[in-house]
Amino acid sequence: MSDLSTQLIHHPYRPPEGFDAVAPGVHKASTVIFPHVQALRTQEWKDKSGYTYGLHGTPTTFILEERIATIEGGRFCVLAPSGLSAVSLVDMAFLRQGDELLIPDNAYGPNKAFASVELAAWGITHRYYDAQNPSDLAAKISPATRLVWLEAPGSITLEFPDLPALVATVQQANAARDGERPVLTALDNTWGAGVAFNAFDLGADMSMQALTKYPSGGADVLMGSVVTRDESLHQQLLMTHMRLGLGVSGNDTELVLRGLNTMALRYQAQDAATRALATWMQAQPGVVQVLHPALPGSPGHANWRRDAKAAACLFSVVFDPRFSLAQVDAFCDRLKLFKLGWSWAGPISLCAPYSVSSIRTQAWPHKGGFVRFAVGLEAVDDLRADLAQALATLNA
Ligand SMILES: *Cc1c(COP(=O)(O)O)cnc(C)c1O
Repeated sequence: MSDLSTQLIHHPYRPPEGFDAVAPGVHKASTVIFPHVQALRTQEWKDKSGYTYGLHGTPTTFILEERIATIEGGRFCVLAPSGLSAVSLVDMAFLRQGDELLIPDNAYGPNKAFASVELAAWGITHRYYDAQNPSDLAAKISPATRLVWLEAPGSITLEFPDLPALVATVQQANAARDGERPVLTALDNTWGAGVAFNAFDLGADMSMQALTKYPSGGADVLMGSVVTRDESLHQQLLMTHMRLGLGVSGNDTELVLRGLNTMALRYQAQDAATRALATWMQAQPGVVQVLHPALPGSPGHANWRRDAKAAACLFSVVFDPRFSLAQVDAFCDRLKLFKLGWSWAGPISLCAPYSVSSIRTQAWPHKGGFVRFAVGLEAVDDLRADLAQALATLNA
């Protein structure tokens, strides 16, 4: 071994075992080295008893999977490179040509777009149901229905559904099927993050999250997860996940693990700040309605009060239709601490105007401008002052 490259690559030094730091190590791999051919042939990764290839897990990704499963009150977890790829993983693992998927009309938009473009191209149909009306779900379940997405609250407009009633509707349909091809339920639990309520206690079969949001908390990493309690569902997800090649990087996994240490504190602090701002906003001139599940009068408030113990950092505002949409855009432009941008649960407060009638099929009763706010980690008084100065100009 006189060649320098060979000497450096096959260097004999190994650090001692027993380095016990607070943070788990960041392991990165495509290749994992086997000690002998027998191990190469027999090493198992699906039960986390060993390692075979970076795509199939590292010590770092196994740790994050275990922690997310614990937070959500589930048993098994798979990681995906974004929240949206976790959504599409669930769809691809459980839907086949000829199946039908039911999605809440107020679901996360790209979930609907994946169904209407990609799934449709593979012969999988979908319909939207009114998540505030379990009898609408009951009416839409057909013999072809295989999967029902749930989301609590709905994206953008934040209506909180009666999750146990929606799950019971699916269970009734399954009982009538004699166990043949049961309809599965998957909850997009990004908003609750496993903090506000337990998805499995409310009856969901699968809980998917954008770890991009609360678990990361940094607005600097994309990742998703799907947690189950049922081992056979997990195995099905795991095999589709492997065949799709959905890897996550060690560095990104480290960022999420780091974020998890403060997640419960951040959730609590952002919840309190958001309720304070949403309540204040409700009393301001020019504001027709504030949507936030913890505000009495917000759609589904009673469901939220019964089933959840916390609320995330989002609220939406319907402005008086006397303001033009251009005036509402100018209000957003005038905000200094609330930046314009997508996503939420990071350190910086964000806002974005939406055209609600263009993102759903159900009639939207309001004519005025609509803005969704995501509250970050800044002081509430500073955020309130920022909203006040922009509102003063709007109302001037
Ligand atoms: C952000 C978000 C997603 C998607 O997460 P990405 O990591 O951005 O792909 C899915 N569902 C909800 C409710 C979200 O807010």
